Amino acid sequence: MIAILAGIFFLITACNSNTKKRQEIMKADKNELNAIFPKGEKGSADLFTGNAYNIGLVDVDSVFTTAVGNVFFEPGARSNWHSHPAGQILIITDGVGYHQIEGQAIETIKKGDVVKCPPNVRHWHGASPQVGLQQIYIVPNTEKGIVDWQEAVTDEQYKK
Ligand code: MN
Repeated sequence: MIAILAGIFFLITACNSNTKKRQEIMKADKNELNAIFPKGEKGSADLFTGNAYNIGLVDVDSVFTTAVGNVFFEPGARSNWHSHPAGQILIITDGVGYHQIEGQAIETIKKGDVVKCPPNVRHWHGASPQVGLQQIYIVPNTEKGIVDWQEAVTDEQYKK
């Protein structure tokens, strides 16, 4: 009898532990959203606030002169202020985030949005505080340069 009770107890404990594991996996998936590409390398703290991961998808060459890659921003993460000498196109594939051109209001961006940022315009982009962001970037005409990095976006600027 004791053996049977112990067996039942073991089964219940094992089930709970499996459920907990499954919930943890689901939580991790939700945090990283629907990733299409590998997560890539964590961006430098000199260029990003919070955790942002970058993977290059198209390397720069003299034929296409275009850089393409994916960035995953965890909730609250964002780029520093920066500009692109030839502009940039962002394609949002999952999540919710922000894009701001200096002097303009913060724009909310979400899955399915396409954002153009003109050449040599100071701006930043990143995730919302609660939900991360998956974004593909396309930088054309790389012979003009790819990115000029500047200072971090302060919490005050981010929360506006
Ligand atoms: Mn940019």
